[in-house]
Amino acid sequence: MTKSILENELFESFANASDNIYIYVCDMQKDLSRWSKNTVDYFDMEGEYIESAGPKWIEHIHPDDRAAYLKDIDAVFSGASNRHSCQYRAKNKYGDYVWLECKGSVISDESGKPLVFAGLMTRLDNQNKYDPLTLLLTSYEMQKYEFSVGSGAILLLGINGFRKINNTNGFLYGNKVLVALSECLTKLAGKEDRVYRLQGDEFIVLSPSGSKEQLSRLFEKVNDYCMNIRGLKSFSVSAGLVSYPEDGTDFNTLMSNLEHSLEYAKEQKQGWIAEFSEKISKRHLRTGLLHEALIQSIHNGFEGFELYFQPILDAKTKNIVECESLLRWKTPDIQDATPYEFIKILEDSGEIREVGTWVMKEALRHAAKWQKKYKNISVSFNVSYIQLLDGEFIDKLISTAQELQVDPRLVMVELTESCNADDTKMLSHQFNKLQKLGFKIAMDDFGTEYASFGLLHDVTMDVLKIDQKFVRGLIREGNMTDMSIIENVVNMCRQLSIQTVAEGIETEEIQDIIRSIGVSFLQGYLYSKPVPAAEFERMVEAERN
Ligand code: C2E
Ligand code: CA
Ligand code: CA
Repeated sequence: MTKSILENELFESFANASDNIYIYVCDMQKDLSRWSKNTVDYFDMEGEYIESAGPKWIEHIHPDDRAAYLKDIDAVFSGASNRHSCQYRAKNKYGDYVWLECKGSVISDESGKPLVFAGLMTRLDNQNKYDPLTLLLTSYEMQKYEFSVGSGAILLLGINGFRKINNTNGFLYGNKVLVALSECLTKLAGKEDRVYRLQGDEFIVLSPSGSKEQLSRLFEKVNDYCMNIRGLKSFSVSAGLVSYPEDGTDFNTLMSNLEHSLEYAKEQKQGWIAEFSEKISKRHLRTGLLHEALIQSIHNGFEGFELYFQPILDAKTKNIVECESLLRWKTPDIQDATPYEFIKILEDSGEIREVGTWVMKEALRHAAKWQKKYKNISVSFNVSYIQLLDGEFIDKLISTAQELQVDPRLVMVELTESCNADDTKMLSHQFNKLQKLGFKIAMDDFGTEYASFGLLHDVTMDVLKIDQKFVRGLIREGNMTDMSIIENVVNMCRQLSIQTVAEGIETEEIQDIIRSIGVSFLQGYLYSKPVPAAEFERMVEAERN
């Protein structure tokens, strides 16, 4: 009996669920309890199974918190309550008190006799002094620092592509990277400096009486160090930099200025450092303004959003055979937001999912119309990686095509920002589902990230769009590099039966070179900029009459 209660499979799976959750289950008749392995380790308990654990656990609890804990737990064991819920501090193996939220409940038999008491304790890391993984101070401790007295500088570091590092190598490997970086910072920081770990992959070096120049140099050294850590693949960090009192005199202002600077640095170039400035502050304000206006537009039935269409020509005949749908957005107050600008905001906030579904429906609505009117005109539209993280989008695309009776062979999905695609198995699965029905899949902006070749290996593509930067570089004097890149990509695609599109064709000269290389389709301002649907129709009709 005891065995079956304590040896539950659910216990195993919950016990391994998270690093900061501790599980226990107690057979109340025998007063024998079982604790998850991470509890035993972190709180230095005598073993996984403990008899009469109650008084032993009390020893761990901070003396100031014991009364409240006992009151709550006594109510459970006396039968007055069947739920235990309280917050208290408990001593860990390092001798430090950490805040826990403890919730448990009692299961009784039919006669009301209590059988099992089970629950979990969540470590409230944002209230704790030390981060248990790296043993560095937490942001909770940093908040207590007096920034209003004295002057100094602060560096905020973030690991580039940490989500990808975690996803491709596993959670434990990710932890090793965090520990290695914390060791590096402790080693390289000055004697007076304080190093903190914030949530996730961010770290702070606070230099009381230090300067921005000193911290910039530290940043360079950290990046050199991260290139060569034994047992780890090289990685890099980006950083934001402030000084106080110039950039703020309280924790919240300084943190927010640091976060904006780090964000700016990452956008410029990974492995970059950005000093807080007026420009960064203005940019942040604009992002906030645009984001609010975007949400308003979405709430008002996607008011202000519109699709433009850019013709794509068959390279042999130069006839319009396809068009790319490109999103535009304007409000009475905001007329100048570029797609790069507002789509990034939608991607960062996750709202690209809603807007992307609207784009897909609009694109298919036009595809349905043009399929009847013109025959054989394909419509492509852009899809961000995060839209594909759940299968819902693909299912909606399939059902919308069915409802509108669109021939899937005339619909193409362009995967943008493919460099962020870390779950290629999922992508491959979802794309195969579409390809079986006849939909076409294109990889956008090929060549902008090294990951593109890897993706090509894992995911079957129908079309590859060669990035504008190679195409536009073609006529630069003596530029053989772009020429040979395009030639090789086109040859490789031919062998793999993948069609190619050259984007960004602006001149006859480039067009002629591209055609001679054997690219399948042409797109660019030479033929037309993206235009509203009615204008695109006029273009097709002019060509056909
Ligand atoms: P993209 O998918 O690479 O789209 C091609 C971009 O190149 C378009 O910019 C187009 O106007 C521009 N372009 C085309 N031909 C030429 C040319 O000859 N010269 C030059 N200089 N530019 C040319 P646009 O419309 O500003 O879109 C920018 C990006 O925004 C797109 O790049 C795409 O990544 C993203 N985007 C646009 N619409 C959507 C959408 O509905 N969903 C998502 N997720 N992303 C979108
Ligand atoms: Ca595109
Ligand atoms: Ca592109």
